[in-house]
Order: sequence, then C-alpha cells, then structure tokens
Amino acid sequence: MDIKIGPHKKGDAGILCMPLVSNLPDADKKHSDWRKTTCPACDTECWVSNAHQKIIESEPKVKAVCTMCALKGIKL
Ligand SMILES: [Zn+2]
Repeated sequence: MDIKIGPHKKGDAGILCMPLVSNLPDADKKHSDWRKTTCPACDTECWVSNAHQKIIESEPKVKAVCTMCALKGIKL
C-alpha cells in the first residue's frame, strides 16, 4: 500500500477523512456545523462538517470516507 500524507492543496486528489460517530458520539454538541452522514464505502455512521462539505462539492477528485476506510486506503 502506498499512502502519502501531507497538507492538502486544491486540485490534489485524495481521501477526506470523516470522523466516526462511534469515536466521537457527542461531536455535534461541540461543533455546531457537524451533521451525521454515512460513509459511501461502508455505510458506517460518521460526521461531515461544513468544511468537509465545501471540499466535497468543489473538489471532485477528493473522496470522503469514514476514518476506518481512510486508514485502509480504500479505493472508490
Ligand atoms: Zn467507511
């Protein structure tokens, strides 16, 4: 597996990591813009923030998945 981790620049492809609800069950109390969604790869419940949403909408080469799928380096 070949994974490169570094600061994201607009236009980079890559994986956007959405935190798992099971890891941060009360995250929406701390972050008012976080909403529950499901991972498109494994259907696990995870969080999406306004910042995530902005990247998802403006950067089609970026795939948003949950933390576990991101760690596995899932290919969508
Ligand atoms: Zn997943």
